[in-house]
Amino acid sequence: MFKSNGALLFTGVKNNIMDIKEFEEKVRAHSQDFDLSLVSSTNALAGEVGEVCNVSKKMEYYKHFPTYNTRVDKEILEGKRIAHPDKLKDELGDVLFYLIQCAQRGGFTVEDLIVSQSQKLDDMSVKLNKHFLK
Ligand SMILES: [Mg+2]
Repeated sequence: MFKSNGALLFTGVKNNIMDIKEFEEKVRAHSQDFDLSLVSSTNALAGEVGEVCNVSKKMEYYKHFPTYNTRVDKEILEGKRIAHPDKLKDELGDVLFYLIQCAQRGGFTVEDLIVSQSQKLDDMSVKLNKHFLK
């Protein structure tokens, strides 16, 4: 992630660059088809977080079995990928979509969230340093 012309940018797959604002517009355009409230969006976000937890649980659970790789290979063949890193990526993308949608319905941009969270982390570092270095 880097800044260029005042806009936060992410480097994406295959060296494509997508401006956060461009992606936010994509989310906004898609969301316009649905007249949902903030509560609907937050519930959808919670549901997607649950899907992330479920995939990670299965990825962790299946690792304890000697047939893990066979199971994952079978899922790939069947197009399921329920315990596969690709499925985790897919569900995290759903979380990102609803997170941005929630932010938009709350009147915030992704940049607003990044700036405030970054400040929070800085403040937390200062507090932790004070606590452990006194
Ligand atoms: Mg999903």
